[in-house]
Amino acid sequence: MDWTEFLGHQRQRNWFANAISQNKLASTFLMVGPDGIGKRTFAKLVAQSLLCTQTDPGDLAFCNRCETCLQVEKQTHPDVIYLARDRAKSTLTVDQLLGSDAARMREGFCYELRIRPYSGRRKIAIIDDADTLKEDTANCLLKTLEEPPPGAVIFLLGTSEKRQISTIRSRSQIVRFSPLSNQHVAELILRHGFLEDPTQALQLAERSHGSIQHAKELNDPSLIEFRNQIYSFLQQRPMDFIGFPKAIIEHLNNSTADGQPRRDRLKWCLDEVTEVLRNSLWIQMGVPFSGATDPALRFAPLKNLPVRTILRLIELTQETRENINRYIAPAALLEAWVVNFARLARL
Ligand SMILES: [Zn+2]
Repeated sequence: MDWTEFLGHQRQRNWFANAISQNKLASTFLMVGPDGIGKRTFAKLVAQSLLCTQTDPGDLAFCNRCETCLQVEKQTHPDVIYLARDRAKSTLTVDQLLGSDAARMREGFCYELRIRPYSGRRKIAIIDDADTLKEDTANCLLKTLEEPPPGAVIFLLGTSEKRQISTIRSRSQIVRFSPLSNQHVAELILRHGFLEDPTQALQLAERSHGSIQHAKELNDPSLIEFRNQIYSFLQQRPMDFIGFPKAIIEHLNNSTADGQPRRDRLKWCLDEVTEVLRNSLWIQMGVPFSGATDPALRFAPLKNLPVRTILRLIELTQETRENINRYIAPAALLEAWVVNFARLARL
């Protein structure tokens, strides 16, 4: 991957090119925007540009041939540290940042960042899942963010500004990323081989909210079936508030591992419901769907509800989503959500 193949985010590119050419690069960046729009790739390309031995350090460019470039590309360069939450865990952990109890401050992210750069240039860190930093883990990072090693650049990647805690936000330069255009998502769908037909790729892109990750999920047969199941429950009158949570739990039990992966899938379910609610809201407010051809985009079984009710349902659903990690058993949370949902919507 090269800057010429990277799609979208031209404003952010110009901004970084400018900061690098003026030697005014901050040390911590909080990059926010939906998943699947290229933030991680962007950070990696900036890292490659900063470390490449064949291009001017004042240019946002790299040769893509030197040993350094090849190592960054393969994620094996010792000066680029990647950190993400363990998929079995709900958050980044103190151990990941400071090392395990037995080796506190002698291993872990903050220690690694302080080791002298192998290339003699700088260390670069790409930290995923910034949304999951809690007060205790964030506190471990603060000292590093306040006094970073010389030249170090830290990229924190999150989905939205409001999900970040204030201590991190205030110590970072915030860079906002917008969803990709439908054309760009369609191009990526073809490039990744999710579909082969350009017309179908564009139709899928129209529903993707500018995210290649969302496009991939929309195209996954097992998720399509599950999504249809959610949709048919939302259409039922009266709403089946025993059968609905039961069906969701059954799907979760059969398709995902226990623990965090199951909670992550449940978040996905609630995001799907939110999407249906937003469709209903748009129809209520008379906002036309711009040229979309896919009938699924127009799926809005709750379109006859008052706008205020739809807004409260969105709020309820998102609140429930935010609470998922606090509950050991998602079933109880889900049942409460369906009961409240039916009550609010009088279904
Ligand atoms: Zn190079």
